[in-house]
Amino acid sequence: MPSDIEIARAATLKPIAEVAAKIGIPDEALHNYGKHIAKIDHDFIKSLDGKSQGKLVLVTAISPTPAGEGKTTTTVGLSDALNRVGKKTVACLREPSLGPCFGMKGGAAGGGKAQVVPMEQINLHFTGDFHAITSAHSLAAALIDNHIYWANELNIDVRRIHWRRVVDMNDRALRSINQSLGGVANGFPREDGFDITVASEVMAVFCLAKDLADLEARLGKIVIAETRDRKPVTLAQVKATGAMTVLLKDALQPNLVQTLEGNPALIHGGPFANIAHGCNSVIATQTGLKLADYVVTEAGFGADLGAEKFLDIKCRQTGLQPSAVVIVATVRALKMHGGVDKKSLATENLEALEKGFANLARHVENVRSFGLPVVVGVNHFFQDTDAEHTKLKELCRDKLQVEALTCKHWADGGAGAEGLANAVVKLAEGEQKPLTFAYETSAKLADKVKAIATKLYGASGISIDGKAATKLAGFEKDGYGDLPVCMAKTQYSFSTDPTLMGAPSGHTITVRDVRLSAGAGFVVVICGEIMTMPGLPKVPAADTIRLDENGQIDGLF
Ligand code: ADP
Ligand code: MG
Repeated sequence: MPSDIEIARAATLKPIAEVAAKIGIPDEALHNYGKHIAKIDHDFIKSLDGKSQGKLVLVTAISPTPAGEGKTTTTVGLSDALNRVGKKTVACLREPSLGPCFGMKGGAAGGGKAQVVPMEQINLHFTGDFHAITSAHSLAAALIDNHIYWANELNIDVRRIHWRRVVDMNDRALRSINQSLGGVANGFPREDGFDITVASEVMAVFCLAKDLADLEARLGKIVIAETRDRKPVTLAQVKATGAMTVLLKDALQPNLVQTLEGNPALIHGGPFANIAHGCNSVIATQTGLKLADYVVTEAGFGADLGAEKFLDIKCRQTGLQPSAVVIVATVRALKMHGGVDKKSLATENLEALEKGFANLARHVENVRSFGLPVVVGVNHFFQDTDAEHTKLKELCRDKLQVEALTCKHWADGGAGAEGLANAVVKLAEGEQKPLTFAYETSAKLADKVKAIATKLYGASGISIDGKAATKLAGFEKDGYGDLPVCMAKTQYSFSTDPTLMGAPSGHTITVRDVRLSAGAGFVVVICGEIMTMPGLPKVPAADTIRLDENGQIDGLF
């Protein structure tokens, strides 16, 4: 099988207007970025108000392992397959972050015959959305320090500024810095630091905003600092939001590209899946739903984090509701959950598969607890044996009464996922129940965390460090107690210990820190070390990335 980039380069892309026409987007609603990428105009999106909506399918997964699961690949493959079985379908995905491309080799636009193209542009500058977000975030940072420089009328405590700076690069040197050094003319020296752009609250707001007005209103609510008497200070108070919205105006229009099979895909926004909710923009999802019969979208990490936040945060805030959920599993990853190490994955091991199945079972039960119909998509890898696939399907049927389908979209494109597509249609067009959230927003913040920990993670309880408990009480006092919580914990385990694979239970979830994201509309609950500015490995991919004699990018994927 050729590499992802070889497959992507060999594809003949359709003009983007032709892809747009498939879902009824007229030429005049497109802002073209070259031949194969276009943004969809705000006014056209507004004209869709009141149109009936298609069905939403959420793709999520078992707890990730180094063996790979393939959510993005399945989102694209399922989308192509739904188009093949006669359902007009749009895939909705996150935009990849540029910084990490120079660390580890590998893209984030699917793989094999299930990819979105043009992949180089999508993985690098694309339509400049992340640059716009970086600029809007930087403007706010400049305005805050400028406010302090010119008399600090808001009485901002320079020791309690929460707004850090951002850049879309893996640069550990910037994690913690001293700024405003060099004399009176440069302001008041203080400690600061940089996060990667995808960790900016502007990114989370961008992805949850319903429209430009909502974007501006949400930006205004972001708490950037405290006053000397410990009152929250917002971005609206430093008068940043009008100009930030101007910088973000074009970026907020969703980006249309195509799958390798020429079907439409909207790739828009890309928040972190730990300190934020980890899914593409609401605007893209809603636009897709008004234009197509089906929208297939991905939530980051495993279902304990990605699907939970998709439902408890994104769906709760917007009224979106999936009609079916696909849980992606692989035989390889389940064998790892059953104790097999990465080197031995090519050997058939039914016993380990059955043991590791516990991880999938917990995720299936969790998603069902929201009242949602589930199907398991078993992403086929070429080393998998037929006996392993048969065994996994039997376990799903006998122990969970859930249908599981072997999918070969990576090797065969949409044709390889038609079985999954038909199963999804059957569920989505079957009986639907209202969503049951994991907790009510009226509950105390700590009780929301406890509900997630005990109902979904299998924990016996939670423990909150003193400093975090004080901060939670402060948020409740300041009127933020009704917000949902955004869990930031390791994606590798239901516990906070990444080495506890499978389906651990009886553990305690320890809350180390909490942060307010009032614009995005959630309280981030940090359980363990969370990195908001990654570094580069000893031998970064950048060492070997170059343009070859034909002007093609080499070494990126
Ligand atoms: P996720 O979205 O869950 O992080 P991706 O869909 O991005 O996963 O896949 C991760 C990597 O695994 C990609 O490089 C992809 O090409 C590869 N991959 C996915 N499915 C398969 C498969 N069935 N066989 C081989 N490689 C695969
Ligand atoms: Mg992905």
